Amino acid sequence: MARFILNRDQQPNGDNEVHNATTGCNWMPAPHNQINLGEYPNCHGAVAAAKAAYGNARINGCAYCCAICHTT
Ligand SMILES: [Zn+2]
Repeated sequence: MARFILNRDQQPNGDNEVHNATTGCNWMPAPHNQINLGEYPNCHGAVAAAKAAYGNARINGCAYCCAICHTT
């Protein structure tokens, strides 16, 4: 299991990105911009949970630490 966070800040394209806080990421947002999503086996679960909680936001996986969940 790994812990995932959601970036409170939008990317320039309007996406809010999910990052893996267990492996870490060079693109991790500042602590005050991190929304804890909890622990999941992989980023797919974390992205699904973020979409369920923040359905109006565009949720996407980080291209670096969550590449298998990165779509846009
Ligand atoms: Zn990342």
